[in-house]
Amino acid sequence: MSNSIRVAVCGAAGRMGREVVRAVAEASDLILVGAVDQVEVGRDAGEVAQGKPLGISIQSNLAEVLSTIRPQVLVDFTEPAAALANIQTAFAHGVAPVVGTTGLTEADLAQVALWVRETGVGAVIAPNFALGAVLMMQFAQQAARYLPDVEIIELHHERKLDAPSGTALLTAGKIAQARTAAGLAPVPAPEGAFERTPGARGASAHGVPIHSVRLPGLVAHQEVLFGGPGQVLSIRHDSTDRRCFMPGVLLAIRKVIGRKDLVLGLENLLD
Ligand code: NAD
Repeated sequence: MSNSIRVAVCGAAGRMGREVVRAVAEASDLILVGAVDQVEVGRDAGEVAQGKPLGISIQSNLAEVLSTIRPQVLVDFTEPAAALANIQTAFAHGVAPVVGTTGLTEADLAQVALWVRETGVGAVIAPNFALGAVLMMQFAQQAARYLPDVEIIELHHERKLDAPSGTALLTAGKIAQARTAAGLAPVPAPEGAFERTPGARGASAHGVPIHSVRLPGLVAHQEVLFGGPGQVLSIRHDSTDRRCFMPGVLLAIRKVIGRKDLVLGLENLLD
């Protein structure tokens, strides 16, 4: 279709990238025009993703793909060490990045915000594109106003490179924000914790303890546990199949077009 949104995928041979290739190919208003990865180079992206060719071969040089193929949107699901450079390359070619790669630091996000201002090209960065995960965070924010004691357990497959997960860090930040907005003191620090083994009480982000589990068999899961006298509230989300992220990714592709700002989090794209 001539007015379809032209999309390139970076990390096209990865677990998430292959899902994105499939989802974009199936969407009638989007067209896959480029695929980039460091592995499976030269192979057809559709063949790699779904065993069915799409006529788009995986290439290794992102800048070359962007300058010759001129997509409107670059979807990045690579790795923390690569994402910032890929985003910079996208802006250099006037291409709007939609980034699912996690592990970007606050400094990285500030840098992206600067590039957005300098280029006037919009961007979406979301550590979790699953609608259920967004709702989990919203419910946690709601509960944080009433139940001060909270811990997060996040569980992912064993090949995840970053810990804690981007979703856990975002949830902790939102809990802290909700408490501040409600005029409550910061999350109380656990007192008198003597760790017989260092790290036993987890890491701490925005004062919220986070426990990261990595095991084969898991995809992406998170439980936010609130405790109060005589009660525990548990808010849990499980991604059991990477397809759950695709409606959010497709929404971001459609909505980033024409934007001139940086959107952080899928929740900021929902009506
Ligand atoms: P993966 O290892 O299966 O795939 C990553 C792919 O990126 C690999 O094929 C690798 O070769 C490629 N790659 C690495 N560096 C590259 C570069 N510089 N240029 C081109 N390709 C490069 O990982 P995955 O499970 O697909 O996860 C990818 C990222 O997405 C991770 O950061 C993960 O945490 C994140 N993730 C985000 C969400 C979300 O909803 N936002 C959901 C799941 C995973």
